[in-house]
Amino acid sequence: MPERSESESRKLLRSLRDTLAEGGKGQDRLDRITRIIARSIGTEVCSIYLFRDAETLELCATEGLKRAAVHQTRMKLGEGLVGRVARTATPVNTGNAPAEKGFRFMPETGEEIYSSFLGVPIQRVGERLGVLVVQSRQSRQFSDDEVYALEVVAMVLAEMTELGAFTGEGEAMAAKHKQPVMFRGATGQEGAAEGRVWLHEARVVVTNPVADDPVAETERLRAAVGQLRVSVDDLLSAESLDKDQKAVLEAYRMFAHSRGWLRRMEEDVANGLSAEAAVEKEQSATRARLEQVPDAYLRERLHDLDDISNRLLRILTGQGRETGAAMPDNPVLVARNIGPGELLEYGRKLRGVVLQEGSVGSHAAVVARALAIPLVIHAERIVTEALNGDHIMVDGDQGIVHLRPEETVARAFRDKIAMQAAAQNRYASLRDLPAQSKCGTVTALHMNAGLMADLPSLEGSGAEGVGLFRTELQFLVRSQMPKRSELAAIYARVLDAARGRRVAFRTLDIGSDKVLPYMKPQDEPNPAMGWRAIRVGLDKPGVLRMQCQALIRAANGRRLTVMFPFIAQMDEFTAARAHFDRELAREAALGHTVPESVEVGAMLETPSLAFAPDAFFDQVDFVSIGGNDLKQFFFAADRENELVRRRYDTLDTGFLRLIDHIARRCAATGTPLSFCGEDAGRPIEAVVLAALGLRMLSMRPASVGPVKALLRQIDLTALRALLDDVLAGSAQTARPAVMDWLAGQGG
Ligand code: PEP
Ligand code: MG
Repeated sequence: MPERSESESRKLLRSLRDTLAEGGKGQDRLDRITRIIARSIGTEVCSIYLFRDAETLELCATEGLKRAAVHQTRMKLGEGLVGRVARTATPVNTGNAPAEKGFRFMPETGEEIYSSFLGVPIQRVGERLGVLVVQSRQSRQFSDDEVYALEVVAMVLAEMTELGAFTGEGEAMAAKHKQPVMFRGATGQEGAAEGRVWLHEARVVVTNPVADDPVAETERLRAAVGQLRVSVDDLLSAESLDKDQKAVLEAYRMFAHSRGWLRRMEEDVANGLSAEAAVEKEQSATRARLEQVPDAYLRERLHDLDDISNRLLRILTGQGRETGAAMPDNPVLVARNIGPGELLEYGRKLRGVVLQEGSVGSHAAVVARALAIPLVIHAERIVTEALNGDHIMVDGDQGIVHLRPEETVARAFRDKIAMQAAAQNRYASLRDLPAQSKCGTVTALHMNAGLMADLPSLEGSGAEGVGLFRTELQFLVRSQMPKRSELAAIYARVLDAARGRRVAFRTLDIGSDKVLPYMKPQDEPNPAMGWRAIRVGLDKPGVLRMQCQALIRAANGRRLTVMFPFIAQMDEFTAARAHFDRELAREAALGHTVPESVEVGAMLETPSLAFAPDAFFDQVDFVSIGGNDLKQFFFAADRENELVRRRYDTLDTGFLRLIDHIARRCAATGTPLSFCGEDAGRPIEAVVLAALGLRMLSMRPASVGPVKALLRQIDLTALRALLDDVLAGSAQTARPAVMDWLAGQGG
């Protein structure tokens, strides 16, 4: 094979493009293309393998191998050399294929006579589409130029695949973005929704991957890069930037001014690619390289480079976020990831949210929960599969998403939504009734909130008050520390909306996963057990004091309930309370109206506090168990780690003994006790907590109905007796006994 010239490359790309224009079936096109490539590159064999599902590749066309193998030969991702190219997204180039590690001989193809093998991935920014292979008898390594030429061809094939040029019979040649796809992710927020896809970052469609005039195309590319540099420089000169934003933009600037990057794209264009296809080619290649890198810093840079490439593509195509496309009715937001501020901006317009990444405790999840929007996270590949306007169904309970569902699936899903709506109606009839169990015990049901937008639920859900108001969101969604007056105004509006009902404001719980954009992040090896919540509050008391002042002013003579997060020992509570009392005294001295009554409580979120001295229980006005954190520290199982977060049952007898111990200590000192973790909203868990003596449960508004319904059906004294038996025995978990007992109650 002779050295290839740029003009040869361009000729090849043009003839590929012409096959697009010629029409005909997808299979005919693929056949023609393998012939053209083999002839132009000068190899006996050229084959195209496409994915038939996420794990399997299928030989879809070949020049040189046995035709009978087409659509018969298949291999798993990682299997054989072709599978290796697909898995690693990097070329395999060998003069002696059979000697290569992982080689697998496919007898039906007749490939045994070909020694040399060059395979390159067919991919389009993060989306793996297939593998392009050339083979020849002569045993030799392909030159760098040849590898490069084949990569350029593969880029054009990727764009053609995306444009639907190769659709035909069978899974491997099914039209892209037309098939029903089901995603198994994880639950971020329960609930079900049906609607149309709205992509947070619209997909850029490249309609012409091949350029006719490389000189003009290079000019276009340079002009776009110039525009990109100016826009990044503009962003950098903005005055309101903090250090971190500046650091990210500096990285952007470095990429935008990188000579290597521009030179590689110019080479691609000289070889016949359009400017857009050149950007995508480099983006894919860098991604593939960096994805192999375990270093977190370098992976961050990968995101930066991705972002800057997307910006360049938007400049070149005029497509993207600013296209002005109208949001569909019933929008379901689909994104790789999203920040809390951006999600809040969409607000209640959204029916559902599906994220490719995300985590249960992320800010976005906190916002989705506050807005009561079903959220599924970890829906792998959804961003590359979904198109704006696609029909989508989100099952937040199961963490499942149906994209472009078949009618039977859609019908079953709608039945489920209808059943949930019917159940909500049933619960609505209980709204004004107390959660009084058959033995006469009444459990107070409150709701968790974190936004003004939550407050309307107070009327609708039947909650008696707000058992946990998370104050982080007002801090998280801003780019600067909020002012005392702003906070006071927000808290006052919350109290107005509560109309005299109790609202327990939890002071700022930052650190761990919740990092304020304007605070220097601590590089902690284990942030959930690090400098967070009240630890920050006590070490840097300025914010804690300011928040206490804002709360006292917001109360403006009304009752005020405050609790401190993550109190691990008595002294922390004593110190936090002293800050509050000092502010109270100061406000009084300034002549401001002070609250008519004040309750100051502690959140029990670490096992240590359960063993605090009696004096702690005597001095605290109330204790609220933060079950999410308490459980993670009791079992040493990260609440955000999918591998372990469901590993231990809340009804594990060890955990229940801890709750029982806390309940007994509070009862002995007459300290009111509540529970405000997610488990309070799960009916089975909730009745067990109530039976153990928790007289106040705080949960998501939508859970109040189901929890109340179950509490009203059962006898808590009888359940308590059952639990006493179970806890005296040797069972690992109380769940089977509780379920049996409930079944016997008709509950
Ligand atoms: C908890 O830990 O249970 C809790 C209510 O607080 P958060 O979920 O905000 O950490
Ligand atoms: Mg907590």
